[in-house]
Amino acid sequence: MSSVNNIPVFKCSMCGSCCRMSPISILPHEEVILRKLAEYMEINVVFTNGYTVYEAVNGVNIAFSYIMHLDESGKCPFQKGVLCSIHGVYKPYICRSFPYIPRHVKYHIDDENKYIMATTDYGLSTACPVVKKDRPLLEEAEALHGGPVEKILIHYYKDGYWTAVEMDNARALMLDLLSRLWQTGVIDIKPANKPGITVNLYEFLRRYYPDLPQRLGVDLVYRKVKTWLQTYYS
Ligand code: SF4
Ligand code: SF4
Repeated sequence: MSSVNNIPVFKCSMCGSCCRMSPISILPHEEVILRKLAEYMEINVVFTNGYTVYEAVNGVNIAFSYIMHLDESGKCPFQKGVLCSIHGVYKPYICRSFPYIPRHVKYHIDDENKYIMATTDYGLSTACPVVKKDRPLLEEAEALHGGPVEKILIHYYKDGYWTAVEMDNARALMLDLLSRLWQTGVIDIKPANKPGITVNLYEFLRRYYPDLPQRLGVDLVYRKVKTWLQTYYS
C-alpha cells in the first residue's frame, strides 16, 4: 500500500464484487448509451425510471435518473467473469467513481424562480473490501485533519473523486437547461408525476438543444462505440 503521511491510496483489487452489490443508478444520457450497447451486444438489460417530474405543456413525465437492474443471477448484465465487458467503451459514472459513491441525491424544485437543482451526498462505500481494509487509516487521517476533508479523498482516490465531480456537472447541466425552458415559458414543471408516459430527460432536452450530445460527450462515446463494436464482433 502506498501512502503519504500514513494516508493510503486506493488500489482496486479487481474482485468484481461491486458489479454484484446492488442495482446501478445512472443518468439519463447514460441510459440511452447503455440501452444502445445492450441492443448491439444482444444482452437483456432492464432499466426503470428513478426520480421523475411532470411537464404540463407536453403532458409527459420526465425521468431525471434511471436504475439499471442486476440480472437473474444477481450481477450487472454487462459483467463478464469479474470484469466489465464495456470498460473500454463506456462505463457509467457511478462505476468509475466507485467506491466513492452518491449515497443520496436530492432534487430541489423552486416553483417561484422556476429552477431545479440537485444536491448529492457522497461517501466511500465500505462494501468495497479495499475501503474496509483502509478505513482505520482513513479515520486516523480524518481525525488528524478534523474531518473527512476533500484533500484526503483526493489523495485516497483522485480518479473517483473527479469522476463524481463530472457526474454532478452532467446532472447540473441537464437540470439547468430544463430550468431555462421553464423560465422562458416553453415548459411547465410540476413536482409530482402523473399517470401516463415518461420520457428520458436527455431525449427530452435534445429537441430544444441539438448540441446536447456534444456538450455531454455522447457524440464521442458513439464514435468510440463504432470502433469498439468492430473489435467486439471480430
Ligand atoms: S469492490 Fe472494490 S476492490 Fe472490488 S472491484 Fe469493486 S472497487 Fe475494486
Ligand atoms: S457497467 Fe461494468 S462496471 Fe458497472 S456494474 Fe456493470 S459490469 Fe460493473
